[in-house]
Amino acid sequence: MKDLADHGSLSSRWSSTDVWCKGDVRLVILRSSASESSAYLLQGPSANLLVDCGDGALSALLDQGVSPLGLHAILFTHDHADHAGGLYSLLSWMRVSGRLDPLRVIVPLGARRLDDLLDLFVRHARERLKFGLNVQRVIPPREIREERFLSRAAPVIHGGVNESGRVSPIACCAWRVELDGASVVFSGDTGPCASVRELSCGADLALIESTWGESPVRDLPAPGAKRESLLRIHSTVDQARWMGEWAAGTRFIHIPRRGGGAED
Ligand SMILES: [Zn+2]
Repeated sequence: MKDLADHGSLSSRWSSTDVWCKGDVRLVILRSSASESSAYLLQGPSANLLVDCGDGALSALLDQGVSPLGLHAILFTHDHADHAGGLYSLLSWMRVSGRLDPLRVIVPLGARRLDDLLDLFVRHARERLKFGLNVQRVIPPREIREERFLSRAAPVIHGGVNESGRVSPIACCAWRVELDGASVVFSGDTGPCASVRELSCGADLALIESTWGESPVRDLPAPGAKRESLLRIHSTVDQARWMGEWAAGTRFIHIPRRGGGAED
């Protein structure tokens, strides 16, 4: 009983609005706003992991007192700007701060904007880059077993929508990460899909997107075919609840700021 009490291994809780804890593992919502920025920090004794790296991720990490030099890996759900736009500044900070340890970057295969961004950074840094970028490209479903953590990618339903309402699918996935006895699911951006529901089964916490909120009619002024397509690539609160209901805890994320966009 003493061990259980000391380590809190049977309980999890939100210690503040944006910080969730289970035992020695901490999940921090650094950024989560549709079309603006998404970034999540998962910290444990074995590793510090970042899931998505939207604008402001670097500042948010530093505000949390977390040095990016201690990040072991960054996992991406997809390459939309609000999920990847902060990567260049984060990598540049690591370079000028003298990072030497290799950094693992795991991306969906075909996330071309992430490929371009990583290529641009490496070409610009050249010989000044002292740490290795170990980039792994995955096709979901996929399990990656690391010494420090286990991650599973699952397919999701997401993409871009043009004015005529045609959906252009993009490379994207949801992640389930197991770290030091805690399991957390990150849905990324997705319409309602069974794969996220299955990925969340038994997880301690599922962060599920609910871009359209309670009322997509109110929040979605786009007409006709485009509207129908947009409804397929993001989720309402009810759909998010369905995707996360097999997890021990659920948090709805990726809510648009009032007056902001929501397509990405
Ligand atoms: Zn997106």
